[in-house]
Amino acid sequence: MSEIISDPDCLFCRIVAGEIPAERLYEDDEILAFRDVNPQAPFHALIIPRTHIATLNDLQPAQATLAGRLLAVAARIAAEQGFAEAGYRVAMNCNADGGQSVYHIHLHLLAGRQLAWPPG
Ligand code: AMP
Repeated sequence: MSEIISDPDCLFCRIVAGEIPAERLYEDDEILAFRDVNPQAPFHALIIPRTHIATLNDLQPAQATLAGRLLAVAARIAAEQGFAEAGYRVAMNCNADGGQSVYHIHLHLLAGRQLAWPPG
């Protein structure tokens, strides 16, 4: 396991630390998943690394396995919640044009309705 970096000013680092409540769906030594507080679909979860990485631009080559594990956890949760067959979407927003509002990388997992494409 790599070193966990925490930013005291980061909302998601504070969720990792348990300082801000969240409805947790999955956790291990590297990853935490919880329900999005403002769901954009009947099921909307966020999958985050425990360590602080501000944007996808900041992901280091040595963290490629961690990034892959975020996807694997998303698929696991989708299956546990019963969405594997019907389908779902995972997305990561980056910086202003990507629509990122919390600067700690996170995968959105959206499911439970037909999702439009392009996303707009
Ligand atoms: P993004 O806009 O891609 O950075 O996504 C940030 C997401 O974090 C949004 O979908 C918010 O609804 C969600 N969010 C913000 N604050 C919280 C919180 N305290 N608990 C759970 N989700 C949150």
